[in-house]
Amino acid sequence: MNAENGSFDAVVVGSGPNGLAAAIALARRQQSVLVLEGSDTLGGGLRSAELTLPGFVHDLCAEVLPLTLGSPFLSTIPLADFGLHLLQPRIPLAHPLDDGRAAVLERSMERTARGLNADGAAYSRLMGPIVARWRPLVEILLGPFRWPAQPLALARFGLAAILPATVLARLNFRQAPAQALFAGVSAHSILPLERPVSAAFGLVLATLAHAVGWPIARGGSQHVPDALVGYLGSLGGQTRTGSHINSLSELPRHGKALLDLTPRQVLRIEGTDLPNPYRRQLARYRYGPGVFKIDWALETPIPWTAEVCRAAGTVHLGGTLGEVASAEAAVWRGEHPARPFVILAQPTLVDPTRAPPDRHIAWAYCHVPNGSTVDMASAIEAQVERFAPGFAQRILARSTRNACQMQAHNPNYVGGDINGGVQDLRQLWTRPVPRRDPYSTPNPRIFICSSATPPGGGVHGMCGFYAARSALSRSLVTTGRG
Ligand SMILES: Cc1cc2nc3c(=O)[nH]c(=O)nc-3n(C[C@H](O)[C@H](O)[C@H](O)COP(=O)(O)OP(=O)(O)OC[C@H]3O[C@@H](n4cnc5c(N)ncnc54)[C@H](O)[C@@H]3O)c2cc1C
Repeated sequence: MNAENGSFDAVVVGSGPNGLAAAIALARRQQSVLVLEGSDTLGGGLRSAELTLPGFVHDLCAEVLPLTLGSPFLSTIPLADFGLHLLQPRIPLAHPLDDGRAAVLERSMERTARGLNADGAAYSRLMGPIVARWRPLVEILLGPFRWPAQPLALARFGLAAILPATVLARLNFRQAPAQALFAGVSAHSILPLERPVSAAFGLVLATLAHAVGWPIARGGSQHVPDALVGYLGSLGGQTRTGSHINSLSELPRHGKALLDLTPRQVLRIEGTDLPNPYRRQLARYRYGPGVFKIDWALETPIPWTAEVCRAAGTVHLGGTLGEVASAEAAVWRGEHPARPFVILAQPTLVDPTRAPPDRHIAWAYCHVPNGSTVDMASAIEAQVERFAPGFAQRILARSTRNACQMQAHNPNYVGGDINGGVQDLRQLWTRPVPRRDPYSTPNPRIFICSSATPPGGGVHGMCGFYAARSALSRSLVTTGRG
C-alpha cells in the first residue's frame, strides 16, 4: 500500500514503547505504517516533563531501564544514533534497613555476594547459573510461551522462579539484608510476595542488574520514544498525535490495525467486529493494584543514613522482607499501608541535565489498590525520612498523581495498573486471553500489541515486536474498510 495515497499497510493505535516497536518491526519489512497517538505527546509510559519547577525534568512514568537495554528487539535498533544515551549509576540498587546498614545490588555479581556476607555464597549459587545464561533466558522470557532452545537453562531458572518470593528468599538466605533485597526486587511484580512466580521478577531484574545494569536515559525517558520515532521515520514510518481513537472507522484506509491498548480499551473501540465469545474473554481480563506516584525537586541529594544509598540509581524503601511482604499483601486486600513499599530513583546522581546546577530531582511510587484516590505523599515521604532524616527540608517542590490520575494521564493504566494487567501465573503467558497466538484476535485484521500481551509490563518493546510478527505472518490484504 502507498502511504502517499493516505492508505497504510498497518496502523498502530497508541505510541507506547510497544506501539513504536511494532511500527518499527513492520516498517523494517517494508510495510507502510502510521502510528496514531491520543495524547499530544508520543511515548506512552516514557514521557518526561517539568512537573515541579522550571528546569527540573521528571519522568512521568518509567525511569529505570534495564529491560530496554536487555531487550532482544530494542537492542537491535541504533538508538544512540537517534539521541538516546543510557547512563549507568555506579550502583544499580540499594535497600536500606533501620540499623543503618543497606543491602546492595551491584553491577558485579561477585561484589554483590561479598557485600551480603554470610549469605554471599548462597547468592552466588542462586544467581550464578542464571546470570551466566542471561541472554537465552531473557530471549525466552521476554516473549510468548514457547519451548526453549536451551531447556536446561530455563529449567534451572524455572524451578526457582515458580516459587513465591518469600519462600525463595527464606530458603536461600538467613540474614535480613539479603532477604530484604530479594523481596524488594520481587515486589516489582506487583504481586503478593507469598504468591507463586513473584520470585521470577526478582530473579530477572537482579540478573539484568549484573548483565546490563539499571540505566536511566540522559535528559529523561522521553528520549527513548524520541529515538524510536526518529528511527521509525528513517524507515518511512509516520506518527500523528492528538488522535484519540474511539472507532476503527476513524482510521485511514489500512490493512492491519495493531492496538497498543489493554482489553478494557479494546472492548470500547467500535467497529472491531470481534465475536462475543472473544469479547467475553477480554472482559474477564484482570487488572491489578495501581500506583501512587510522586516527583520532587530537591535542594540537595537525599541525605541517606546508609552512605551507599547516595550512589544508588534506585533505592527500595520498606525495611525487612516481612515488612515489604505485609505492605504488598495489604494493597491486595484493598488497604493503603501506613508504611508502603516505595521504589525511588535518583536520576540527577548521574544526569545533571535533569535539574538546574547543584539542584536535584527524585522519583518514587508505591502500590495502592486499583482505582485508589488516596494521597500517599505523606506516607511515602515518611518512608524516605525514616532512612534519610532531614529529607523533608530538602524539598523545593513536589508533584503527585494518584492511581485514578495515572489513568487520566494514560488510559492504558486502568485503575493505575502500570503493568497492563495482573502478571500472575494465570495471566503471565495467557494475556490477554488463552490463545495459541495471543497477539492475534478472531478478526484477522486486528492485533493487540500492548503490555496486556506477553511478556507484560516494562519498557522492552517485545509485545510490539511479537504482535508485528504475528501481523506479518498473515497476508497483508487491504479490504478497503476504515
Ligand atoms: C509510574 C510508572 C513507573 C514505571 N516505571 C517503569 C520503569 O522504571 N521501568 C520500566 O521498564 N517500566 C516502568 N513502567 C511501566 C512501563 O511504563 C509500561 O509497562 C510501558 O510503558 C507499557 O508500554 P505500552 O506500549 O504497552 O503502553 P503505554 O506506554 O502505556 O502506551 C500506550 C499509549 O496508547 C495511547 N492510547 C491509549 N488509548 C488510546 C486511544 N484510544 N487512541 C490513541 N491512543 C491511545 C496512550 O496515550 C499511550 O501513549 C512504569 C509505569 C508507570 C506508570
